[in-house]
Amino acid sequence: MMVLPEFKLMRPASLSEALSALAQNPGAMAVAGGTDLLVSMKQGLYNPTHLVDLKGAPELHRLEAGEGGATIGACVRLSRVKNHPEIIRRYGALSQAADAVAGPALQNRGTIGGNVCLDTRCYYYNQSDFWRQSLGFCLKKDGPVCRAAPAAKRCFANFSSDTVPALIVLGARVRVVCGCEGGVSERVLPLEDFFVEDGMKRNVLAPGELVAELYLPATRNVFSGYRKYRQRGAIDYPLVSVAAALSIEDGVIRGARVAVGAMASAPVVALETMEALEGAAPTPELISKAAELVAKRTKPVKNQAGSPGHRRLMAKVMCRRLLEELLGLGPLFGKAV
Ligand SMILES: Cc1cc2nc3c(=O)[nH]c(=O)nc-3n(C[C@H](O)[C@H](O)[C@H](O)COP(=O)(O)OP(=O)(O)OC[C@H]3O[C@@H](n4cnc5c(N)ncnc54)[C@H](O)[C@@H]3O)c2cc1C
Ligand code: SF4
Repeated sequence: MMVLPEFKLMRPASLSEALSALAQNPGAMAVAGGTDLLVSMKQGLYNPTHLVDLKGAPELHRLEAGEGGATIGACVRLSRVKNHPEIIRRYGALSQAADAVAGPALQNRGTIGGNVCLDTRCYYYNQSDFWRQSLGFCLKKDGPVCRAAPAAKRCFANFSSDTVPALIVLGARVRVVCGCEGGVSERVLPLEDFFVEDGMKRNVLAPGELVAELYLPATRNVFSGYRKYRQRGAIDYPLVSVAAALSIEDGVIRGARVAVGAMASAPVVALETMEALEGAAPTPELISKAAELVAKRTKPVKNQAGSPGHRRLMAKVMCRRLLEELLGLGPLFGKAV
């Protein structure tokens, strides 16, 4: 049986109190829904002295969406995101991605901030202490070498959040906050710049920093969607996922954003696919070419179920199906706002 290690739970009542708690306790970690972190603690992957529960900070629960854009606080639960009528109407990819996370129970508990800050995953890492010890551990924790790519000097664990590829194609920006003498300091950056292609570091957060809010720009004539390939139809992380947002005017694709999840330590923005789509009239040949370019863009290593070749093939399939749907060339039709 896996048991939680001992820790002290802190329940600050505001964002500034939460930041002070983190600053005063260097061994502390933030917790929101706990659906990722508590499992990892049971597996011996993290052993924080304190957990700082963010849910008591009212500043992190704001969810506003409408014609001018959307603001989503870090502690907003995934079920609230997926069911919000304006998110469904204006940011379809995000609602679909939140709906694809695990299952309803975890969506009711897990938050969007926790999904953005999710740890990277690997077959050799997300295991019990006993399992990992039998193998001599790995580079990401306690071991000398990467078990998935022994010749490499870095960790290739996958960033497997469902909502992040969707947020990226929708143009999300993230507000990062930190405690300082005058109160709270902040920086706002494009979400794609928040991630680092390194399975150990995973994002740009410095100790004591938190994600406070996500901002989405206004959408007009944007069709967006999300497709996920996983081992089982329920409660499984993606083996590969694709999100796309297309703006279409007069029968021409004026803007295209495509991102791929779970194939690297950071989400992959499919630049070549976007270039191929932009300015073109949608045809089946264009969709095939765009999907092919997605597969070429990714280079997964063998660190989760399915061979790298199979996952790249499924990236192509997922992308083709999604583009067909959004462009009305497949069996389903996307909805524009
Ligand atoms: C069985 C199972 C299946 C799952 N399947 C999926 C899946 O298919 N897709 C998917 O995306 N996820 C999946 N998850 C993971 C998890 O449920 C979600 O990613 C969820 O959104 C995490 O949010 P949380 O609030 O519970 O995060 P927590 O567990 O509270 O935190 C996760 C990490 O983020 C940090 N953190 C949390 N909030 C902040 C913040 N505001 N600022 C800075 N750091 C922060 C924590 O310190 C921790 O490192 C699954 C989990 C389980 C147990
Ligand atoms: S990619 Fe390598 S170093 Fe990273 S978690 Fe997996 S086995 Fe460990």
